[in-house]
Amino acid sequence: MASQTAFDLLDHVSGYPHVVPGLFEGLDGTLGLGVVVLDALLGVVPLAWSGFALAPWRGVTLMLITDDIFQAFLQCETKAHLKLSGAAGDQRGFPTWERNRVEAYKRQYYLHVRADCREDECLVGVALPQDLSHSLWRLVIDCRVQTQALQSHIHILERCTSAGQTQHHPYIPVRLIPREKITPQDKLVLAFDALVLSAATGQAPPFGKIIYGSAYAVAQVKLEAWIPSAQAVLGKITAQQASRTPPPLVLNKHCAECEFQAHCRQRALEKDDLSLLSGMTAKEMKKQHSKGIFSVTQLSYT
Ligand code: SF4
Repeated sequence: MASQTAFDLLDHVSGYPHVVPGLFEGLDGTLGLGVVVLDALLGVVPLAWSGFALAPWRGVTLMLITDDIFQAFLQCETKAHLKLSGAAGDQRGFPTWERNRVEAYKRQYYLHVRADCREDECLVGVALPQDLSHSLWRLVIDCRVQTQALQSHIHILERCTSAGQTQHHPYIPVRLIPREKITPQDKLVLAFDALVLSAATGQAPPFGKIIYGSAYAVAQVKLEAWIPSAQAVLGKITAQQASRTPPPLVLNKHCAECEFQAHCRQRALEKDDLSLLSGMTAKEMKKQHSKGIFSVTQLSYT
């Protein structure tokens, strides 16, 4: 579906809220809307991004999807949903410690890398400059890249000497991770950075980098291997954002580190939810749900 067609369809159906559910139910409910919006978003026609953030649908104004939201979704769909709703959890201890750790690591690395850079080769703490492609900056540090729908605070944009005369963006995104090991999630967030950069500029970076650990190890990441998965995640976030139904609550291993821990545990207790049982996986829960079993009490009778 052409990107403009997708937006036309969205514009059209937003005036007929009673029609919309039936229209998209055939496409698996809200996921159908996600597919349409995502097609509009990722037709890789940068202009197609315009208007999305303000598009009302069933009374919903879609918020910017940020790297923070994207990362939250990878940890837990409920967490992303709560953040998109503007909620703030009250268990701030671990998230604050983690954020401070990342910020300290970034500051240290910035000092390290700037020691090898002339003042006029390095731009710090800016929104993406419009004429970046023609600039000679070696590094753009702590750069905010934004379209009407997406935003990412890219840790570093580094001029790529090998991009040459190709269609690729002359800068690559770099993520800084203090941990000694990187995960597939880190690569997905880097792919999100690349998606936002290409949506903002119309040019995709050829690859990205993750700098990690105390020795500043470097992992070069082929983005084409991760972009489809990042797009799929973005589609799910978009569908979730457009839906009035929150995702099913599933307590999980990230809960212990999450700011919404008390909120979700209380909700789970009220529902006598199956995920209160330690060892209950999402797959097993789905299996029990398919049998009509939703609570610990119901399960105890089986
Ligand atoms: S407490 Fe658990 S279920 Fe709730 S948002 Fe956080 S990770 Fe998700």
